Order: sequence, then C-alpha cells, then structure tokens
Amino acid sequence: MPDRLADIALPVPLPDPLTYEIPAAWEPQAREGVRARVLMGRRRLTGLIVRVHDERREGIALRPLQEILDREPVLTPDLLDLARFTAEYYMAPLGEVVRTMLPADLPPWGDRKVWLTNAGALALPRDVDESAVIDALREGGRMTVAELQSRTGGLSDLDAVLATLSESGRIGSEEHRARSARYVNAVELAPGDLDAHLAAAGRSAAGKEVIQYLSAVGRPATTAEITDKIGCTPAVVRRLVSLGVLRQFTQVERLSLDRHMLGAPGKPPEIQLRPDQAHALGFLTGALDRRDFSALLLQGMTGSGKTEVYLRAAEEALARGRSTILLVPEIALVPALARSVERRFGENLAILHSGMGSGERHQEWERVRRGEARVVLGPRSALFAPVADLGLIVVDEEQDSSYKQELSPRYNARDLALVRARDAGAAALLVSATPSLESRWNAERGKLELLKLTERAGQGSLPEGILVDLREEGLSRRPGEVHFSERLQLEIRQALADGDQVILLRNRRGYAPMLLCRACGEDMRCPDCGLPRTYHRRDRRLVCHYCGSMIPAPQVCPNCKEDALEAIGAGTERVEETFKELFPGVAVDVLDRDTARRPGGPAAVLERFDRGEVAVLIGTQMVSKGHHFPNVALTAVLAADAYLSFPDFRAVERTYNLLVQVAGRAGRGERPGRVVIQTYHPDHYAIQAALRQDDEGFAREELRFRRVFHYPPYTRMVQLLVRDKNRDRAWAEISKLAAGLAEHPFARSVRLSGPAPAPLERLRGEWRFQFLLRSADGKGLHRMLREVLPRNPGFDLVIDVDPQQLL
Ligand code: ADP
Ligand code: ZN
Repeated sequence: MPDRLADIALPVPLPDPLTYEIPAAWEPQAREGVRARVLMGRRRLTGLIVRVHDERREGIALRPLQEILDREPVLTPDLLDLARFTAEYYMAPLGEVVRTMLPADLPPWGDRKVWLTNAGALALPRDVDESAVIDALREGGRMTVAELQSRTGGLSDLDAVLATLSESGRIGSEEHRARSARYVNAVELAPGDLDAHLAAAGRSAAGKEVIQYLSAVGRPATTAEITDKIGCTPAVVRRLVSLGVLRQFTQVERLSLDRHMLGAPGKPPEIQLRPDQAHALGFLTGALDRRDFSALLLQGMTGSGKTEVYLRAAEEALARGRSTILLVPEIALVPALARSVERRFGENLAILHSGMGSGERHQEWERVRRGEARVVLGPRSALFAPVADLGLIVVDEEQDSSYKQELSPRYNARDLALVRARDAGAAALLVSATPSLESRWNAERGKLELLKLTERAGQGSLPEGILVDLREEGLSRRPGEVHFSERLQLEIRQALADGDQVILLRNRRGYAPMLLCRACGEDMRCPDCGLPRTYHRRDRRLVCHYCGSMIPAPQVCPNCKEDALEAIGAGTERVEETFKELFPGVAVDVLDRDTARRPGGPAAVLERFDRGEVAVLIGTQMVSKGHHFPNVALTAVLAADAYLSFPDFRAVERTYNLLVQVAGRAGRGERPGRVVIQTYHPDHYAIQAALRQDDEGFAREELRFRRVFHYPPYTRMVQLLVRDKNRDRAWAEISKLAAGLAEHPFARSVRLSGPAPAPLERLRGEWRFQFLLRSADGKGLHRMLREVLPRNPGFDLVIDVDPQQLL
C-alpha cells in the first residue's frame, strides 16, 4: 500500500485541499507546486499539489491521484506562499487562488511525446532503466511522458534517462505546444572558432556577414531573421549549412507581440530627468541596492513624468539582474505602454493578459519562467508572473478599482503587490495622480514613502477649468439627462475653429438608460435584475447592463400598446446623435465597451483619433485613462453628478479622480487646454478641488468624511452577501449569519450594518442581501469571521474582504 499522500488544492468552492494517495509510479514526480489530475466524485479535475506527507488518518479511505502533469513545479515556493496568504486573507479556497495564478490552459508538460528512433530500436540498452524505457516504447509506440511514467512503474529519474536517450539519438521527442505554435527553421554556428568559419565561407561576402551576425548576437536565429537583417537570399544560409559552418534545426516560432503594441518600434526618448524625478529614481535605486522591502507612493499629475521614472527604475532593476512587474488597471492600457517598454527592453519584455491567444500566453509565461524575459507587463493577474529575482513591482493608477477582482478570489492586486514585494525583498511602487485614500493615509502613517513630482514635463501647462452650473441653464432636472450648455457649445466651436481636438465624457453607454412608456409607465425592466434595461438604438435592442440579457426594442408599449415610448436620459450613442445635430459635418467617434465589440475595437478608434482623422471623441471613462493626445485642447464632463450621486462611499473619491484625470487629458501638447465641467453641484468640494487643483484640500475633506463615518481607510470592511433564487431563504440565511456575528465577543469592536438588501437587490434572477462589517482592527475582524462563518455554508455566500464595489 502506498504511504505517501498529497494534499491537492482543487478549483472548487471547498475550504480545504483534498488528500489523495500517490501511486508508486508517480512518487518521484509528486512535489509541492506540480499539477495533478484527480477524480472528485465523477468529475475529472486538475489541481495543484500543495503538500506531500504521510499523515494518514485512520479509517478514511483515500483515492489515488490519476496522474501528475508537470515535471517541474508550475508554482514556485514563493508564489505558493503568496497563494496561501491570498486564500487566507480573502477567505477564498486555495484551489481557486491557484487557478487564478496560473494561465488558464497551461499545457501539461507531461504531454511531451516521445518515441523510439530506428537507432534506438537497434542499440542495446546501457542499463536496466534504459531497458525499461525502451521496452515500454517498443511495446506502446509513441506516447506522452506521463504515460511512459506510469508504464515504467515510476523510474526514479525518468528525466535523466530520457535526456541520455535523446542525446544519443535513440529517442525522438516533441514538446506538446499550444495549437497556434508553428515550427520554423533556425541555424546556429557550429562549434569552432570564428576565423575558421569565415575562412570556410570562402569568397562569399554575404556568407561572411551571416557568420559575423550570428557570432555578434550569440544565439541561434531563424533563416527569415538572417535574410531580413543581412539582405541575402536563403541560398546563402543553405550553402553555409552544407559547408558545415552552420547547424540547422527546427524551433518553435516565436510569436510576435507586435499586435499587442501601439505605435512603431524605435529608440526610447533621451530624456534628462528633472530634479524631482531624479530624486524619486534615486530613492528606488537605493531600495534595489539594499535588497530589502520598500514601499513607495509616486504621486504626480498626468504628464508629470511618472512613467519615465518607473521605466528608468525597471532599467536599474534589470542592470542588477532583477525582474520588474508592471501592472496597469486594464488590458486596454497595455498596447500603448507596451511599446515604450519594448523600446527600452526589447526581448526582455513579456506581455501577459487574457486577451492574448493561448499560444502567445504560454510562450510569454515560459519566457518569464526561464528568466528570458525580465520585464512583465499586464493587468492585475500579471502580478502572479513567475519572474526570477523580483526587484520591482509597479502598480500604475493604483487607485483604480479594476485591481480588485470581482470574482473569487476577490483579491486586490495593488495590496497583494505589497505582500509579494515584502516577501521577495523587492520594491513596490504605487503610482497615481490621485492616490486612493488608503494609500494617502498609508503615506501619512509612514507605511508608504511618498515621492511627489511637482512639475509638468515638457511644455504642457495646466488646463483652465470652467464650471457650468446646470441649475442656471434653466433646464428641467431629469435623472440621466445630458445637455450641451451654451458655454460648452461655444468652447467646442472655438476648439474646432482652432483645429484642436475635443473629448466629451459621458459615463453611460447605449442610447438611453431607459425606454419609458409615457402612457402607462412601463419601463421594460430586466425580469432577472429588477432594473430598467438600457436602450441601444443602433442595434434596436434593450440590454440589461447587469446581466447582458437583451430583447428587441419594441415600437409600441408591450403593456398598453400605445405608441408612447420615450427614451429617457442619454448614453454615449445619444450624445453622439445630439452632437451631430449641433455640429453637422464634424468627424466624431465613440469609445466605450460597445466599441470593444466592434471590428478594430478600441485600438482602431484610438488610432483614428490619434492621427487626427476624428475631431471629437465621445466616451465613457475608458477615454479618461492613460492615453496621450497632444492635440486635445478641450475636454468636458457632460454630467458630473452622475458620478457623485452613486450610492457608494467611494463615489466622491471616484468623481474627483475622474475630473482630475479628464483635466489631464487637455493641454498635454504645446497649448494650454480647457476643461468644462457641467454639474448641478458646483460647490461640492470634490468638484471645487478638481477645478483648483487643490489635491491636498480634497484629501483633507475626504479623509474627514471617512473618519467621521468610519469608512476605510480608518476601518477594514468586509461585505457578506447571500444570493438565492428564493427571497425568503436568502433573507433567512443572512439573518442567521448576522445574528451569529452579533453574538461574538469581538462584535463590540465592530460596526455591523444590516442585514439589508444589497444595492442591487436582484441580479440575474437572484435575490441579494448583505451584511457589512467594519472595524479598526482588521486582524480581529478576520479572526471573528473565521470563528463564526460556516466552513461549508451550504448556500451561496460571498465574502468580500476590502470590497471595492458595493453592489
Ligand atoms: P505620466 O506618467 O506622469 O503621465 P510621462 O512619464 O508619460 O508622465 O511623461 C509625459 C511626457 O513627458 C512623455 O512624453 C515623456 O516622454 C515626457 N517627459 C517625462 N519626463 C521628462 C523630462 N524630464 N523632460 C522632458 N520630457 C519628459
Ligand atoms: Zn438583467
């Protein structure tokens, strides 16, 4: 009976890993961090071995694991530790955390196929191990290493045996690769010295150049690369191969990352850092030299040269042989930054995100793992890149709520970046024009070292802010309404007359947030979510923006059959329509999530705007992030109140951030820009502070608000949410939980709110009730929850630690 056991974390909502027996054949490969396939009930699942031990518990029959997929750990010990921390802190199953950390369809290394060559079939085996392998292959033909492992009954060092057999040409092997991989011819210099090779090339000048080139790059190169670089024909390469100067082999084609980058390749700009930038960089290099953890907050307005500072810091890390992870909030922001990174780091850049093909993603992940790429760029999941010797993690736009994953595990990559950096003795650099209140407070408490950039790079000067008080426009006040005030129209005309570009912000996509029957009041709510569906006129559809369900837009009211349907309020589509009425003939485009589904997607829209083919860009906040448009002289927020009135304690913070970011869009070029903000609340401190660029004033007011009402950062917050199709059952479960928590001795140090309906009481056909907990003692709160919450609730319970969106 086998006595070794493996605890395997499985991607299922179970609190703990499950224990399986390790069959003898798999023993040599069973290690922490490798993946294994197991049966759970009748389901075949892939999980990760998180512990190997022999602590068999009496009377419990265990199933054997089916097979082990990897020959080397896919999660290195440091990442496994981070996984454990994440599972613990966010109260999520370890298996779900592990699944999030690994590329979704990582190929099993055990799927490498091997076969016996003719030479191998004829040659005598040199020892018993070889003989076992050769026998198995003779019998079974071509097979995966995993199969071979089990057929040979678990050789202690199958890898070594395969390596010798393969070196002597007795077996052939083929990496299992993603479907999109292609094989190409590559050549390398044969062993021997350069002069001899050059002599062998004879009088062929092109041949000599090829040899010089290969010697200079010091690595194999594809024939295509050589003919491209030297400008010779493939025949030159073939001749050198036949002369024995070059050796030819096939290699997996390196997929180009070009389509994930915006702009042309080239040299990085040569920039003399300003003193404030140099100071910040000095701080970072100091941290890299000390090799211990440091946490920094780099604050500076858009265009103040933050990117320049962190890319330099990444160069410094690389010069010390250390890796950098660069995080951006959204995939959409990768292409623009990727090019600047590529210009500096070339092949050292790896891009990792879910918008890539699986072949590309594996390639990048492998290059990172092998230490070939040391600068990794991507959205939050890139935090888990298996980099060698981590030196620096940069979290750009650290305040962005996209760093929080809204599915289990509900982690925040910004916060975990600090944890990973701490454990690796690396520097964590949070970057923002408008840091989160959490980070501002951490800087005040000395937990983050604050580095401020005070000047604006280049010639761009700060835009002028113009406030339009919608109350004075004498307009009826209807929710979601969007107006082009006289002042705004004037500013747009002026900008267009000057040949400048304009950005208009409206944070709702579609035509109108609601299609209402004026006769009977029918508003065509989504039956599953209980909220009005958004009217998309172009597609003639009503779409629920919460669950995505859609129906054709009716011509007459489906309820009373009257021809009295009216679109209420305006989304980007309607803003575009109104704009075209007001400014006929002006080229205008829209950027929002609907654009993402159209051919060319956001990249095409951005490029057209960048090239100046389009004068005016209307968009949701997708427009406000990251992009650099030197010819934009005017930006406008059409309805600032839409953001302010959102029922979330971060609504004010988000409004302020948005306004500041939007202001940063205007006037990045040579001319000063203008920002128009239309609002019904012109005196609100967030709007005032954004207009006057009084960042400290905003922080002071907002921190006061948070302190008075016991919101983060002064407290840690946990949201418990119960979801159920049955309303009564959901209510009963959340009430039981709430009562249990209220009885706990620690409850005196916790603010308990609820149970109550969640802001979205119905979503996708489920009823949702929540219970909020806040405490200044985060550890105590965690302990209490661990003691009171059921380990296997038996109902749908969402635990959201440090929630970002309270929906
Ligand atoms: P941020 O990340 O703060 O928005 P960037 O680093 O992207 O700012 O800098 C904005 C622009 O200014 C870029 O085009 C950058 O190349 C340029 N820049 C940055 N630092 C300097 C400097 N010290 N001198 C001149 N130009 C600079
Ligand atoms: Zn819905």
